[in-house]
Amino acid sequence: MDRYSSQMEQLIAELSKLPGIGAKSAQRLAFHLISRDPEEVRHLAETMVSARENIRYCKQCFSLTDHELCAVCSDPTRDQKTIMVVETTRDMIAYEKTGKYTGVYHVLHGAISPMMGIGPDDIRLKELIERLRGDVDEVIIATNSSLEGETTAMYISKLIKPTGIKVSRIASGVPVGGDLEYTDEVTLLRALEGRVEL
Ligand code: ZN
Repeated sequence: MDRYSSQMEQLIAELSKLPGIGAKSAQRLAFHLISRDPEEVRHLAETMVSARENIRYCKQCFSLTDHELCAVCSDPTRDQKTIMVVETTRDMIAYEKTGKYTGVYHVLHGAISPMMGIGPDDIRLKELIERLRGDVDEVIIATNSSLEGETTAMYISKLIKPTGIKVSRIASGVPVGGDLEYTDEVTLLRALEGRVEL
């Protein structure tokens, strides 16, 4: 049954594949798009394609960037010997907003979750261990305080301990189960400053 033109059906079907977009929202977005100026829609589409084609992972910390190295890794004033391990690029941005952290990052792109079948090989952990062969003073584990985040922190600290590199965990100022992304800057700073050596 074709309620709309087949192209409209197709547009709604594509939009409803996006996360958090149900059938109703997809329909609303589709009607919105076809009511806009064609140039405006072209610009939106081109921005999406260009972002997908040009944004990649930083070859050192695996955050999202337009370049080979992200802005933090390529900044000569940053302390390359202190690495903060976070779950997502969004967490990294949350810490960057505090403006007080001077080290670099390592983005895992997830956390270990036996329940979800996500193991150490499914996140960027091998790449972290590889980085530790260089000159590193401290690894600050800033994974979320969720079960998965804690499991990941324990796993990483066990891996790093034998290397003699200092390993610390951010303080539990971050609410349990709370995503770093949604935690305010003051709480993040307190968590960072109150970090404890593992
Ligand atoms: Zn980087």
